[in-house]
Amino acid sequence: MNPLQVTLVPALSDNYVYIARDDNTQTTMVVDPGEADPVLKVLDENGWNLTHVLNTHHHGDHIAGNEELISRFNAKLIGPKSEHARINGMDEQVVDGDIIDVGGHKGQVIETPGHTRGHIAIWFAESDALFCGDTLFALGCGRVFEGTMEQMWNSLLRLRSLNSTAKIYCGHEYTISNAKFAISIDPNNTKLQLRVKKFEEMRSKNQPTIPSVLMDELDTNPFLRADDPTLAGELGLSEAKPVDVFAAIRERKDNF
Ligand code: ZN
Ligand code: FE
Repeated sequence: MNPLQVTLVPALSDNYVYIARDDNTQTTMVVDPGEADPVLKVLDENGWNLTHVLNTHHHGDHIAGNEELISRFNAKLIGPKSEHARINGMDEQVVDGDIIDVGGHKGQVIETPGHTRGHIAIWFAESDALFCGDTLFALGCGRVFEGTMEQMWNSLLRLRSLNSTAKIYCGHEYTISNAKFAISIDPNNTKLQLRVKKFEEMRSKNQPTIPSVLMDELDTNPFLRADDPTLAGELGLSEAKPVDVFAAIRERKDNF
């Protein structure tokens, strides 16, 4: 089976919607359609019929395009069971450990509470593709709105343990603001310095910085490095538990 081909569709002000496509089986899945129009444009240009819609969490900027897309294509809606009250019309409600089948492509459901209580990420190992909504971003992570800091940290640890070659398809182009924060708390990280420079160049040409690759995040994303003694030391938190270092970094970013 060929890997899913992923097309980025910029939507709203800084969201990315993803279209994952397998030409052989004509499978076409859209992930987190915060609006329908830009997705319809790509589908129509390519002559693709939408077969699946996947939602990572209930926020409007990830689901507002569901109804229009589903009514037009009769696509199947997959989303987190624990957010069924806040996402209309789910055909398949999934929980941690479930394997979804998208035209033969198997996606592992990973519950990643924190940003919302029921947030999920889907890991398509054979395509090396992680759709993680607003849990993990390039050089950042989502705000902790509904869950606890401990939940969010544990969610990030689970994503961190995936194949280091995983391509991270996240919900937003937040990379430059994340980069400014990351370099402010970790200024001597040479890998981070190089990435910040590269991302600034990309954004100046209006190129997407997504997907990021997990192995690059491991070295440079401060939210994935809350248990790194060097970073904790730089923050004056050498004695703190990783979850408390994580919480401190998240709070600093919220006020940055
Ligand atoms: Zn969100
Ligand atoms: Fe979002």
